[in-house]
This record gives sequence, C-alpha cells and structure tokens, in this order.
Amino acid sequence: MKSSEAAQFYFSRAADQLELKESMRRRLIIPRREIQVQVSFETDKGEVATYVGYRVQHNNARGPMKGGFRYHPQVDLDEIRSLAALMTLKTAVVNIPYGGAKGGIAVDPRTLSRTEKERITRKFIDQIHDVIGPDIDIPAPDMGTDAETMAWIMSQYNKYHGFNPGVVTGKPVEYYGIPGREEATGRGVGILTLKVLGRLGRKPQQTRIAIQGFGNVGSHAAKYLADAECKVVAVSDVSGAYYRAEGIDILGAIRYSNQNKNSLAGYKEAEKIPGDQLLELDVDVLIPAALGGVINESNVDRIKAPIIIEAANEPVRPEADEVLAKKGTLLLPDVLANAGGVTVSYFEWAQNRQFYHWNLDRVRQELERVMSQAFESVWNLSRERKVSLRTAAFMVGIERVAKATALIGVA
Ligand code: GLU
Repeated sequence: MKSSEAAQFYFSRAADQLELKESMRRRLIIPRREIQVQVSFETDKGEVATYVGYRVQHNNARGPMKGGFRYHPQVDLDEIRSLAALMTLKTAVVNIPYGGAKGGIAVDPRTLSRTEKERITRKFIDQIHDVIGPDIDIPAPDMGTDAETMAWIMSQYNKYHGFNPGVVTGKPVEYYGIPGREEATGRGVGILTLKVLGRLGRKPQQTRIAIQGFGNVGSHAAKYLADAECKVVAVSDVSGAYYRAEGIDILGAIRYSNQNKNSLAGYKEAEKIPGDQLLELDVDVLIPAALGGVINESNVDRIKAPIIIEAANEPVRPEADEVLAKKGTLLLPDVLANAGGVTVSYFEWAQNRQFYHWNLDRVRQELERVMSQAFESVWNLSRERKVSLRTAAFMVGIERVAKATALIGVA
C-alpha cells in the first residue's frame, strides 16, 4: 500500500463511522494544490546540483495551511501528499485554526554542508515563495530541517514580501521563535503517554519504555518521561540501539549525543543491541519516534509492547495496524500523539502576529491544556463508539474539517 493509500484507508474507516457523504469525502481527500519544483543550487565545489522539491497544500477550510518541510532522500510526491492530509487532521484534532500542508526536498541533508543547505533552502523558497505566506501556508521543521533552516526561510521570503516573521514557525528563539518549540513534539508525546498510563491505572515507576529515534522528538520525549520517573530502558538512533534493564540515564545519553555530533555511537553506559531489535523488546510502552513504516507486515508479529505511542508520522503501516488492533494493543495515533509541535507552532505564529512574547511557562501550560483537551475528546469518543483511538482521532478531525467545509460551501 502506498503512503497516500494508507492515509485514505484510515480516512475511509472513520468516514464510514461518521456516515460522511461521498461528495464530502472527495472534497476532503483531494488536495487543493500540489506543487513540484526544480531546485538547483551551486555546491561548495562550484558545480550545479539539481533536486526535486514539493509542497502539497491539502486543505484550508479551518485556516491557513500548515506543515513541515522534510529533507530526506525518500521524499516523493506520494509521501508528501499523505503527510499533508495528516496535517489537516492533526490541526483539527487539537483544534487550532489551521489547515494542512507538507513539503520537502528529496535530498539527503547529511550530504550537504551547512552553506549548501542554506543555498538549497533559499533556492527552494525562490521557487515557492508566491504560494506560501502567513495567511496562506506556513512551513515548519520536520525531518532533516531545523530552526536554522526556518531562519533562512523567513529571511528569503522577506526579500520578496517584506518583513513578516509569521511566514514560518520553528524559528530560533533569538530570531522570532518561541521558547519551548523545539521540545514541544517530544513533550506532547510525554504528556499523552502519562495520560494513557493514568487511564490504564499504570504507575510511571513500573513502566518500561523503549524509544526508537533520539532526535528532536525521541530525546525530548525520553527526558520528559524519565523526569516523570518512567524507566526508559532502550533508546536508539542510526548508530544502533542501547538497552539497560534498570533504565538509561537519559540526561547523560543526551549529553553524550550532543558532544558526539548528535550520535549515540560508542555510548558505553548501556548494552548495544541491533537497531531493529528495539521495536521487539518486551516493554510496556513502545514509542517509534523516527521514520515512517517501521512497524509493518514483516515484524508486527514480534511486537510485544501492549502500548504504542506514535511519536513519528505514520510509523505503523495499515496492515500492521489491523494485526495490532486484533492483539488488543493500545495505539495512540500520530495525529494526536505528535501534535505538540504544530500546537506550539501556532503559539509562535500568534506571538509573531502580535509582537508579544510568551515565556516558557506559559507555552508549556498552554501546550498541556490543548493536548489534554484533544486527548479527552478522542479517548471518550473511542470508548463511546467502541472504535480504536486512531479511528476516533480521525473522526474528531474529519468532523471539524467537514463542518467548516460545509459552512464555506463552494465559494
Ligand atoms: N512537522 C511537524 C509535524 O509533522 C510540525 C509541523 C508544524 O509545526 O507546522 O507535525
């Protein structure tokens, strides 16, 4: 199943529950606009390199379109299309006034120097600056991009359109960003993991957690959960997985990775195990916080964790989702679990538009409020209608987008 088919599969399941009319389904599925551009730039060696860039603007019924830019070799139109649709639902599930979009470049950012990354980013904005904007479509970080990339985007956009920090979120705190944006996705994952544990009557101290991915999302989720006294027994990154039955010293691991070019390679305070084995560990909670599609037909039978929190986007393939549901695995879906990032993006954008500064305490407090409300509505609907949390989350999201769409008509 292609990525976009997976999104449609979940969409149809929830739309059936809502008894959504066929005409509305088509309006909600078909993206508003899909853009594919050539991105050519000069390498450090003075040669010209050419890549393909994308922006899919899925839906704007509830507000300007919103979603990250991903720099990854596997980026293609189908994946971006599916991730754009997920953003429409994600912003609706947490009820912030945005639609959904996604973009990216099919490039391996590890092959680019810092200056090359800046040039390719500025060239990409040259190609799409006329279709984004603070009231139209607002990019943000995703895999392979970070706060610095966002600063380049703002600066390049402003060359064409004048000063406007609200065109992009996830910017550095020193350059119109907001405190707490970087930690937000991981923190949101942590907040909701504790909520799930609470609902199931499990104590954090007796909860063993494995986290795949130790980047921005995985490391902040690990820190939040370790601070709440959960036992994070395994973490991993591209260098492999690291296991310690008594719990890993997360602050120590983060420090190690920061001092080691953002890699856990050579980390000695835990046992090294093969990377993919992490997913199959006998733990209470599994948090995939890296690539999509990591839990699939080939390994789903070996997944033992009774609780899965989708910190990454689309980490579970639909084929595996069905198997997990039959097994009784409790799965908190991406559109809810990782919505903390876009939620704090919204605070940043609101702050930019008011030229008013929020402090970290306020950001954290509001994040907790928004995430908790979304969790309650999805959890309750799932119990009421006896559907999975994924179907319930999609139902909450689809219903809000459909209502806005119906109100707009065909204007
Ligand atoms: N890329 C993140 C996501 O998938 C954040 C998007 C945003 O902040 O707009 O949710």
